[in-house]
Amino acid sequence: MSKKRKSGGRSGGKRGNTVNEQCTKCGRRVPADKIKKVTKWVSLVDPRMRKELRDSGAILPRRRVTEQYCVSCAVHTGKVKIRSKDDRKPDSW
Ligand SMILES: [Zn+2]
Repeated sequence: MSKKRKSGGRSGGKRGNTVNEQCTKCGRRVPADKIKKVTKWVSLVDPRMRKELRDSGAILPRRRVTEQYCVSCAVHTGKVKIRSKDDRKPDSW
């Protein structure tokens, strides 16, 4: 049977099973090596107050938040793009 991707959309080579983790958006359980991780910095200060504090020279706390998306949600929210056959990695890699 032909395969769309050599890896089946997973990372980690011949590792076998991995634990399932939950999608941040929809809650679906997805294998950890198939999940799409997106890291972003979130400010703990209210956005309306942030500009005022920044102008006065205060150092604002930020926190790193890692979100995990299933493939459906990652595509739907634009975190990853659908690539044409030519844009995907060649199978010989
Ligand atoms: Zn999802």
